[in-house]
Amino acid sequence: MDTKESICLFCPLGCDIAFRVRGDEVVGPEFCGPAESHAGRVCGRGLYGTELLNHPKRIATPLVRVDGRLRETSSEAAFAKTAGGLRKVLETAGPDAIAVVTEPNRSLEDLRAVGRLARAIGTTEVFCAFEPQDWPLLTGKPDAGVSAIVEASCVLAIGNVFMSHPVLAKEIIEAKYTARGNSLFVVGPRRSNTAWYASSLLQNTAGT
Ligand code: SF4
Repeated sequence: MDTKESICLFCPLGCDIAFRVRGDEVVGPEFCGPAESHAGRVCGRGLYGTELLNHPKRIATPLVRVDGRLRETSSEAAFAKTAGGLRKVLETAGPDAIAVVTEPNRSLEDLRAVGRLARAIGTTEVFCAFEPQDWPLLTGKPDAGVSAIVEASCVLAIGNVFMSHPVLAKEIIEAKYTARGNSLFVVGPRRSNTAWYASSLLQNTAGT
């Protein structure tokens, strides 16, 4: 059995992760030694998501709908069909008739590709069904990176970050307690476990 190091692709943090590998099969997760990213910490998605790699229902081939039924096809044919459909809508109804929708469990590279696709189409209809702190990835604006959290004297967390990105909890707690006077402000509708550490909680009403 071998150990292979890789990067978790389940969210934009891209934690270092290692796998136990037998031949072509991933057998399970392995502690990732002296990892640079998040000191080897991974969340539940990274730890247990390895089971999905060998899941029998995992879609390994592009599918297109023909006469109401999904059929396997090549990547080239799937891209050509998608591009043809998008071009037809663009020509008849304009770019804002196309909405680009994404969700949180995407890698940094996936989100950047989604942003490039939206900009290439020219649509402003980008639906962000994920954490607000990941928004800069879609808009192409640079962010300060995870290491900047520890050096911050004031952290503003929106939502329950300890739940959505648990590997960041240590950095946020360190930032608050490294120096007297450091602050953690949390905005969210619930008294979450992130809010428990807050210097101040701005408790908004959901939907406002
Ligand atoms: S926070 Fe979890 S899901 Fe995101 S990259 Fe790290 S291990 Fe993967």
